Amino acid sequence: MTTPTTLKIEGFRGRLISPRDADYDSARAVWNGAIDRRPRLIARCSGTADVVAAVRFAREHDLEIAIRGGGHNVAGTAVCDDGIVIDLSAMRAVRVDPKGRRTWVQGGALWGDVDHETQAHGLATTGGIVSHTGVAGLTLGGGVGWLMRKHGLTVDNLLAVDVVTAEGERLRASEEEHPDLFWALRGGGGNFGVVTSFEFRLHPLGPTVLAGPILWDASDAAEVLRFYRDFVREAPDELGTVVRFGTAPPIPAIPEHLHWRPVVLVGTCYTGPIEEGERALAPLRAARTPLLDLVGPSPYVGFQSALDSTVLHGWNYYWKSTHLPELRDDLIDVLAEHAFSCSSPRSYVAMFHLKGAVSRVAEGRTAFGNRRASHAITLDSVWRPGEDFGERDTAWTRRFFAALGRFREGVYVNFLGGDEDPGRVREAYGDSVYERLVDVKTTYDPDNVFRHNQNIRPR
Ligand SMILES: Cc1cc2nc3c(=O)[nH]c(=O)nc-3n(C[C@H](O)[C@H](O)[C@H](O)COP(=O)(O)OP(=O)(O)OC[C@H]3O[C@@H](n4cnc5c(N)ncnc54)[C@H](O)[C@@H]3O)c2cc1C
Repeated sequence: MTTPTTLKIEGFRGRLISPRDADYDSARAVWNGAIDRRPRLIARCSGTADVVAAVRFAREHDLEIAIRGGGHNVAGTAVCDDGIVIDLSAMRAVRVDPKGRRTWVQGGALWGDVDHETQAHGLATTGGIVSHTGVAGLTLGGGVGWLMRKHGLTVDNLLAVDVVTAEGERLRASEEEHPDLFWALRGGGGNFGVVTSFEFRLHPLGPTVLAGPILWDASDAAEVLRFYRDFVREAPDELGTVVRFGTAPPIPAIPEHLHWRPVVLVGTCYTGPIEEGERALAPLRAARTPLLDLVGPSPYVGFQSALDSTVLHGWNYYWKSTHLPELRDDLIDVLAEHAFSCSSPRSYVAMFHLKGAVSRVAEGRTAFGNRRASHAITLDSVWRPGEDFGERDTAWTRRFFAALGRFREGVYVNFLGGDEDPGRVREAYGDSVYERLVDVKTTYDPDNVFRHNQNIRPR
């Protein structure tokens, strides 16, 4: 690595932030407060030309590159020590073509930006379930969310991207142009270049949807899960559900007397007509006796940010994750036994129901692996700065993960943490997709310039 003698990047118009700047600490902070890395330089790009200049500068000075989209990745891969952060957080524009049902989204946008613009036309595409998550990292790993069972993963709705390669060249990748690269970008993460713009297909939605959580007491977890297993097996594609185990968050929608009570919560979102959704959800709402049923017509945009305050920036997080098969009784027993034995009232478990359109796309059609799995689960320890739950809950996450060992069926690359066994990246794809990703990596980034990520090494 050579030390750049000047803080000037030829042809760069955005902002360069170094340790000498007053906002250096806020500029290097990512969502996960447990990550504390000190890059030499943060290149906050104003557009694609800046990204090109920053990549070329980094290569010239042999600086490690981290790419920052929304900064949400739990492993903190958006920031590196010593190197340069190519920071797209100032590139958040979203343009919508309502007639053509398409949207163009810049590489630093958040899902809240996309939902806001697309819902103004009654349109949406599959995005994450927290509005402050970045579009770029989420999309490049695959993208799971409420709409996926009806409309596919985020990558299944991706039509084209603009990329800056390791050589500092601009390419457009789609089914027609650089199709090998386009295939790899639909699941292979930030390994292949800096994506400056995404083009997505949109679908009519809402803007009012039937959505909301149903809460049961934690002691009912096993019974609720058994019911849920049979219920989702027959559920229409329009119904997206996520099970959350943890305490009832202190959000305004939940009455105060339930705040912090351990509950099993099933979040629901129905993407079809409200009356159909009422019928589809009736059996779940009648199962056992819920503590609280908040399902009702809701603006989709509002629903998409309902969880935002439960996972704030700057708190400390430690995750482990795996895909799971259908919930057999012995798997339910493991979930019920471990889900509530964490210490921090903010730690939780989230389990996304997959299937539907996700699993109807052939394995290997995109680089997203394990499409046949039923659920993606993340075991998430959460503690605020100054709280001492970290060690205990990290041990809880690890113990819980070990207990799920015999049920594991691959993993979603975007839910991998920072201290994973290297074999887990291969696990995220399966052998044949992984080998194909290595081929594409070898073609487009043979020197592994983009390696500060869940890395796929070139041959
Ligand atoms: C609270 C929370 C909720 C989440 N909910 C969901 C969910 O509902 N569905 C889901 O699928 N995932 C979800 N995730 C996981 C999420 O997909 C990943 O954290 C993802 O990495 C976030 O993208 P980002 O751009 O914010 O991340 P960043 O940390 O900015 O980036 C992560 C990595 O992506 C790559 N990258 C980022 N931007 C670019 C770019 N422009 N070009 C090339 N590579 C880039 C880089 O390798 C980077 O290291 C959630 C995460 C959190 C923390």
